[in-house]
Amino acid sequence: MEPIETASERLTGKLALITGGGRGIGLAIALRLARDGARVIVSGRTRADVESTAAAVGGHALICDLTDRAATDAMIESARAIGRVDILVNNAGIAESAPLAETGDAMWDRIMELNATAPFRLTRALVPAMAAHGWGRVVTIASNAGLTGYGYTAAYCAAKHAAVGMTRALALDLGRTGVTINAVCPGWVATRMADEAIARIAAKTGRDTRAARAALEGMSPQRRLVEPEEVAAAVAMLCGESARSIHGQTIVIDGGQVLK
Ligand code: NAP
Repeated sequence: MEPIETASERLTGKLALITGGGRGIGLAIALRLARDGARVIVSGRTRADVESTAAAVGGHALICDLTDRAATDAMIESARAIGRVDILVNNAGIAESAPLAETGDAMWDRIMELNATAPFRLTRALVPAMAAHGWGRVVTIASNAGLTGYGYTAAYCAAKHAAVGMTRALALDLGRTGVTINAVCPGWVATRMADEAIARIAAKTGRDTRAARAALEGMSPQRRLVEPEEVAAAVAMLCGESARSIHGQTIVIDGGQVLK
């Protein structure tokens, strides 16, 4: 058995690609992995956000709409030109909610494309080089909506379940490669995504913003939103050497909201 480094989980020498790294959870992950020594490539659509994160971590900025497959393929080539990607963090995502009758094809396709298909296509593209090198990490930011159902979120829940299913299936395929693949499943996290949900609840129910926020907080037994840095800490843990046996798992970060 080879010894592993547990005293320090430095990621020095590793190159990490973080999708949706310009703000929210992705920003926190970029800052954390860079702090732990990784070189970072940040991807996303909003140039100002992506470049600001990349500058903060001394990393690379790749502007890309992940619902555009040709643009995604070009972004993958740009990432490969920077170096072998050792760590892929599939973080970019959107959440839209609607009752069944108002969940149109376009909404379904948009959510599936970004939250499920893009992580699959990036994983398929980048894992072979990790496997050839004998080391890699794929971490997908799914959701506790990938483990249970919520009202008015058929497309989002389906996409996040797909991301979790992909993670579990590929864990079997990748078992002997030195590449681990895992999903992180947060509950409500204090980012723009939660702010938008709060605004939607307020608009639909007539409640004020504070009451709408309390409704989201109340879904957790801890009665609070998760901070992005808590999710980033779990990602960093999964990227470390001592997490090499954590494979095909879902790490739930939701204050005990979904118990499995
Ligand atoms: P956020 O602040 O809205 O950030 C979403 C990120 O995804 C942004 O960087 C955004 O950048 C990027 N993105 C959106 N559409 C994109 C597209 N078409 N192509 C490329 N990038 C795109 O939300 P967040 O809370 O940080 O969410 C990050 C991940 O956590 C998502 O997968 C989300 O489903 C998951 N999650 C969030 C919560 C929560 O409560 N916040 C809970 C569970 C899971 P651009 O707009 O610049 O492209």
